[in-house]
Amino acid sequence: MKTIGLIGGMSYESTIEYYRIINEMINKQLSGLHSAKMLIESYDFDEIEKNQAAENWELLTEVLINSAQKLQKAGADYIAIATNTMHLMADEVQDNISIPLIHIAEAAANYIKEKNIDTVALLGTRYTMTKPFYKDKLKNEFGINVIIPDETQQGIVNDIIYNELCVGIVNESSRLKLLDIINSCKENGAKAVVLGCTELPNIIKNAEIEIINTTEVHCREIVKRILE
Ligand code: GLU
Repeated sequence: MKTIGLIGGMSYESTIEYYRIINEMINKQLSGLHSAKMLIESYDFDEIEKNQAAENWELLTEVLINSAQKLQKAGADYIAIATNTMHLMADEVQDNISIPLIHIAEAAANYIKEKNIDTVALLGTRYTMTKPFYKDKLKNEFGINVIIPDETQQGIVNDIIYNELCVGIVNESSRLKLLDIINSCKENGAKAVVLGCTELPNIIKNAEIEIINTTEVHCREIVKRILE
């Protein structure tokens, strides 16, 4: 088995899920007492979030490159960034290491293509919903149409992520708000919803359209690669 180097803590709530899902998938495949070989660099998310809010992307890019290099030096065979949003600097990270980065949006796009879905709604942080790095990748590299919630809805999704899900709060009222937003995207033509934030699967388990759980598809790709 190869070793995955996970850049996590964004937030710890989703890194817990990565740790659990990857280990469960490895154990299911190899049985016995098998578990994943994993190195984790886990941030203080408060520092990361403040820099995101201040749009200090260059600094955050340096921070992530530094972690990826550290994990490579420590023996990782692959790198995975355990959040959708911070794939904003995935290309720069890949350019500064010599081991492969397993990209969350590519894992999601391959899954969407396998399912023959042509149009998806994208829910995530406001950075993921509005900046080109994620939706343009789905559209330009994979030919997937992406429907983004309107501005008011974006604010609601973003606030639920940062104020609640990132600290483990799961409110029924927030779940209903998210389902309303997913339904309005469905009315606008979405055939599936990409939960493009690694904490969203903690609150959305079912919807009236198919769910693409990016945490799970990312973990599946990681497991596939480290067992190859
Ligand atoms: N984990 C979330 C995501 O998948 C949000 C946290 C972050 O800003 O990185 O985008």
